[in-house]
Amino acid sequence: MMKTLLLSEEQTEQAAQIIKNGGLVAMPTETVYGLAADAFNGSAVADIFRAKGRPMDNPLIVHISDISQIYGIVREFPEKARLLAENFWPGPLTIILPKASAVPDEVSAGLDTVAVRFPSHPAAQRLISASCPLAAPSANLSGSPSPTSAEHVMKDMNGRIDAVIDGGVCDVGVESTVITLAAGVPRILRPGGITAEQIESVIGHVEIDRAVTEPLEKGQTAASPGMKYKHYSPKADVILLDGDDESFEKYINDNGDDKSAALCYNGQQERLSCVCIPIGDKGDYTAYAHNLFSALRRADDMGCERVFAHCPGKDGVGLAVYNRVIRASGFKIISL
Ligand code: AMP
Ligand code: MG
Repeated sequence: MMKTLLLSEEQTEQAAQIIKNGGLVAMPTETVYGLAADAFNGSAVADIFRAKGRPMDNPLIVHISDISQIYGIVREFPEKARLLAENFWPGPLTIILPKASAVPDEVSAGLDTVAVRFPSHPAAQRLISASCPLAAPSANLSGSPSPTSAEHVMKDMNGRIDAVIDGGVCDVGVESTVITLAAGVPRILRPGGITAEQIESVIGHVEIDRAVTEPLEKGQTAASPGMKYKHYSPKADVILLDGDDESFEKYINDNGDDKSAALCYNGQQERLSCVCIPIGDKGDYTAYAHNLFSALRRADDMGCERVFAHCPGKDGVGLAVYNRVIRASGFKIISL
């Protein structure tokens, strides 16, 4: 087991040196913590998969800190990609484009396309600028909820990676929106902090991949390989409840026990008889996204066996929350 250093945001140089030596550094971003390696070093990138226990066929995102870096990563940078970059970078949007040959196959899992993002978190930008473009997935053990704090990363990855940069709690709280421009009509493969509505206001009509809201059918191939895996799951069972607040509370009070937790809206605590983890004001999906993964991890830390959660609407950032909780629950919703 290696010793995992906990670095402050001021220790960028030390972290950059680890990257240049082919090591792995977990870095804060505005979405979730990423587990980074030199994107042009195939064997360092392969170590990311080993550290996470991630299936080798699930590609990573290349993170840049200056738009000029994109020319070494993609073969084409079409007009729609330029528009998206101008409007949403730096920020929580990942764009899939035809891959340049300099990017090793480990990054793209053998695909002819590559995912690129320009994060807005200053610590991530500093690390990239002090080293090179970084390939990074979320810095959690494969399958568990993504980490939104340095403590979450340590819990999963201590002893498995070289260092973690502590940049506090992530702002958005769920992974980036992923859009492909590599095949026909632009298509959202994963919803995130940049909404479909925002994207359409810049490039016109976009499709939303079926796998965003539905389980893949047997034999179907995933446009985004990440979509086919069970995801975001705490150890506890996640039970999604679709109904008004009163029926949510009644269902939990009738069916919950001392091993249950409820992800509730502010103000519901006093009407619920089980452990409550507030996730924000009713209908505030930005807050739900920000708090979701840390709430799921807290339920596990408290030894809960069941977590009841509100089923969010599918508009705006609600779609990103829906996509995560529906996977965490194994696609089970109880209609109240
Ligand atoms: P993570 O942020 O940890 O979930 O990992 C990156 C996500 O981007 C995964 O869901 C991948 O499936 C997706 N992704 C990365 N590269 C590509 C690509 N070339 N084509 C489609 N999806 C991709
Ligand atoms: Mg992930």
